Amino acid sequence: MPKGDVHNHLHLGGSIKSLHKKYANANFVLPQNYDGLDGLINFIENKVNSIMQTKEDVIYFMEMSLKNSIDDNVRYLEASVDIDLVRFFDYSIEKFIEEIDKLKQKFKAEIDFRPDIGINKHYKLENLYLNGLICINSGVFSGIDIYGKEANSDVSRFKSLFEYARQKKLKTKAHIGEFSPCDTIEETIKLLQPDVIQHGIKAADSKKTMDMILQNNIQLNICPIGNIYMGSVKNLKEHPIRKLYDHGIKITINTDDALLFNCSLTDQYMDLWKQNIFSFEEIDAIRKNSFN
Ligand SMILES: [Zn+2]
Repeated sequence: MPKGDVHNHLHLGGSIKSLHKKYANANFVLPQNYDGLDGLINFIENKVNSIMQTKEDVIYFMEMSLKNSIDDNVRYLEASVDIDLVRFFDYSIEKFIEEIDKLKQKFKAEIDFRPDIGINKHYKLENLYLNGLICINSGVFSGIDIYGKEANSDVSRFKSLFEYARQKKLKTKAHIGEFSPCDTIEETIKLLQPDVIQHGIKAADSKKTMDMILQNNIQLNICPIGNIYMGSVKNLKEHPIRKLYDHGIKITINTDDALLFNCSLTDQYMDLWKQNIFSFEEIDAIRKNSFN
């Protein structure tokens, strides 16, 4: 069935098979579990970044991700493109935007690719507004997405950027609550008023937080297999996705980093159905949420 993937980090969305096609000798063995965000960052720095060293490499990683989505019959893709990848394009934000636009055009017959401006919460402030505003004004991006360390991150510095993005009709997304507690989710909602929360699964610990998500009409873009790989949830049976769904929150199911979690979107739908977490009809309704 056609699917939408709306929580995806573009250059990390490929497959191990296609990675080895180009980098046959790459030492790329996934761990059993990343044991938190630090473990994931460590893996990216040591394994991904040692392979991805040139502009051509980055473009290969991004194309691999788009092809991987197409192979899984993903027809609609909202994927964050990390703004710091500008370093591979002679630090020219214009060249960076041009490449993303080329990718949109190249694959447009097969996939509706809507890039989000991806920003790490610790991205340098002097570049944040300069490059962020150029990206927003370019018309190439459909959304803005912030991620990185969840607790103790000062998201107030994104407030005016988010307001400007909203004015320009970009979708606003913030990663929070994969590991961090309910108060951090509430704080992000109060400060940034995002359209979408990436993860937000810890909200299931508090009725008050779930109500706040519901009242603000915020969608949760959940990545169940990623949560397990990251060590935030033990297994699918214990995943709070069902509780969030039963509370009436609009949810979607997504890949996050398919290359690092070695799992397709179809696999995740199938697992949730096989383990009786959702019926076929429920899965189908959730599938449709990604297109709205
Ligand atoms: Zn993510």
